[in-house]
Amino acid sequence: PFEVLIVGGGPAGAAAAIYTARKGIRTGVAAERFGGQVLDTMGIENFISVSHTEGPKLAAQLESHVRDYEVDIMNLQRADTLIPAAREGGLHEVVLENGASLKAKTVILSTGARWRQMGVPGEDQYRNKGVAYCPHCDGPLFKGKRVAVIGGGNSGVEAAIDLAGLVSHVTLIEFDSQMRADAVLQRKLYSLPNVTVLLSALTTEVHGDGEKVNGLSYRDRTTDETHLVELEGIFVQIGLVPNTEWLKDVIGLSPRGEIEVDQRGHTSIPGIFAAGDCTIVPFKQIVIAMGEGSKAGLSAFDYLIRLTPA
Ligand code: FAD
Repeated sequence: PFEVLIVGGGPAGAAAAIYTARKGIRTGVAAERFGGQVLDTMGIENFISVSHTEGPKLAAQLESHVRDYEVDIMNLQRADTLIPAAREGGLHEVVLENGASLKAKTVILSTGARWRQMGVPGEDQYRNKGVAYCPHCDGPLFKGKRVAVIGGGNSGVEAAIDLAGLVSHVTLIEFDSQMRADAVLQRKLYSLPNVTVLLSALTTEVHGDGEKVNGLSYRDRTTDETHLVELEGIFVQIGLVPNTEWLKDVIGLSPRGEIEVDQRGHTSIPGIFAAGDCTIVPFKQIVIAMGEGSKAGLSAFDYLIRLTPA
């Protein structure tokens, strides 16, 4: 069995693995796709101390850094079930989709999250070519340009306020007849001169010239008419979904399905830790996931040295 089994090989899982391996404890990483969301990212310009890098490059560097240590990387392995130890200090079990089972004294959950997509024509084709999901990451690419934000919840309205300070114009598109964001955010949004809010509007298509986005169509749900908005960027803010469906009845999750953790990455089960985008940690970013993964790794080590020898 492993002393530490990490489920998920994104920035959080890679950081946890490096921290525990450097303590000399037997570490395994099971990941559906080593690299995680970083693999789907083009330019990264907020990975502190590196002015510019690209997702696939950073993902390869994550893997090679982990491989500097004796870590058992099990890539393309999807975890299906978590069976916590029957008694404190016992072995936790993670059953993989292929039926294999892995056992460990501690487990670090770092399965990340995925952005909910609109599911309209053009969205996939122009992903990273105008269609973006992270305003903190990609906002500056649209400096002086016209963008839309899809979604009038807190994240959509925050994104629109943030982007309005950078871009020439923001169109916020909300499906419902009202936005769900906090009133204080809505007031702030309506006070900005370069923002248009469209309510009862359903985005129906992303348009482009083959290379880049150049517009979007939406249907006004009150008149059923379709309109075209010319723009250069579209930020989709209709939800970030944690990859925790498989943990639902096992571990404490927030109402949004995020794993509840304390400051040290402890979950509701002793010996099981969590880090990164799959948790309640605020602000989902690479450097934050790495910091949280490191913390979870150190917490797992801290837990192990306190276990009474079997
Ligand atoms: P993830 O990167 O999501 O990794 C999760 C890991 O868990 C993956 O290996 C996945 O395969 C695995 N996994 C999931 N479920 C299972 C399972 N059941 N069993 C086994 N393995 C599983 N952040 C920035 O700081 N700067 C940027 O410029 C930036 N740009 C972004 C652009 C895009 C398009 C996207 C999608 C995100 C971007 N982000 C950016 C956010 C950043 O990528 C995430 O915050 C970060 O990757 C989170 O790391 P993580 O390790 O928590 O999760």
